[in-house]
Amino acid sequence: MKLFKDFPYVPKIMVTGGAGFIGGAVIRNLLKNSESIVFNIDKIGYASDTTSIEKTIKTQKKDISHRYKLLKVDISNKSDILSAVETSDPDLVLHLAAESHVDRSINGPKAFIESNILGTFNLLEALRKHYSNMNSARKNSFRLLHVSTDEVFGTLDKKGRFDESYQYDPRSPYSASKASSDHLVNAWHHTFGIPVITTNCSNNYGPWQYPEKLIPKIIYKAINGEKIPIYGKGENIRDWLYVEDHVDGLFKVLEKGKLGQKYCIGGSEEKTNNEIANFICNYLDKVIPKNYSHKNLISYVEDRQGHDYRYAINASKIINELNWEPKTNFELGLKITIDWYLKNMDWMEI
Ligand code: NAD
Repeated sequence: MKLFKDFPYVPKIMVTGGAGFIGGAVIRNLLKNSESIVFNIDKIGYASDTTSIEKTIKTQKKDISHRYKLLKVDISNKSDILSAVETSDPDLVLHLAAESHVDRSINGPKAFIESNILGTFNLLEALRKHYSNMNSARKNSFRLLHVSTDEVFGTLDKKGRFDESYQYDPRSPYSASKASSDHLVNAWHHTFGIPVITTNCSNNYGPWQYPEKLIPKIIYKAINGEKIPIYGKGENIRDWLYVEDHVDGLFKVLEKGKLGQKYCIGGSEEKTNNEIANFICNYLDKVIPKNYSHKNLISYVEDRQGHDYRYAINASKIINELNWEPKTNFELGLKITIDWYLKNMDWMEI
């Protein structure tokens, strides 16, 4: 598969947050499956790692190092992101840079306001200037894809699913900051004519995810024989999507999505935290058996403040309009993920 083969020329693509979990998967994919020139704009924070990108560059048959450049930039700094946009002169932008961990947003919301709201505002203003300087042919093909989350919609009861028309009701500092960024992006489209598309995706999992997040944390604790902390009664439900399927959806939206619209992306794989912990423990019991079951390590801890009960996505729009579908079912994706972490325990040390 060659990405962006219908693009009028070889595109320069700016990826913000490209040193993170999903941004890294985006960049690896771009380097392998397109001819594009990729600019990774990342502040290189605690959750960043570019090892996977460097490995991808080294293992290609041809030398592709000239197609990738990392610009260490904090998007909450207005002049730095402005000069990064001038330097990279992008034809396409995928905006993923964000503080992304709900627990951290509860303990310290300010960083989320700075990166997710102010940072998005700075990026939009820099792109507004960039866009206004383009000729009409370039303007026609320019796109900003804003990568957001299903958490902006709030929480669901046992029934119903989020879709593109669902009302926003963010309930954590993280989701409120992401909701704000969605509104800013939408406003810059309607007011200033910037060609944008927004995606709202469910929980991702896969290799290279920073071990503070649920799935790698359970794997890490279980492998090390440590207590596996599970919030409340472990009954909260998320709709899980393998990261490569999310990336595939992002490219479909960027290439064929309608301007100014939103696309909900999800795997239709609703699981409780208990189901996930049990699956991981059962699998580890098979592949690294101990004289006890890994399930004995599960330990229920005080619930997260304001913990949303359930998220679930109705992905019909992207499935029907853009012919996207998740290719990796949860069991397969989780086995691949656990196997990867077993082989990369050194990387897991935090
Ligand atoms: P991540 O925390 O792994 O990576 C985020 C990256 O953004 C990091 O490398 C970080 O350094 C960078 N960043 C943060 N603030 C920055 C700033 N001010 N300037 C420059 N770089 C900055 O997060 P992720 O899981 O890869 O998520 C990426 C995006 O996808 C986020 O916008 C998130 O809201 C969204 N999203 C994530 C999920 C998920 O399950 N992980 C689901 C839906 C949407």
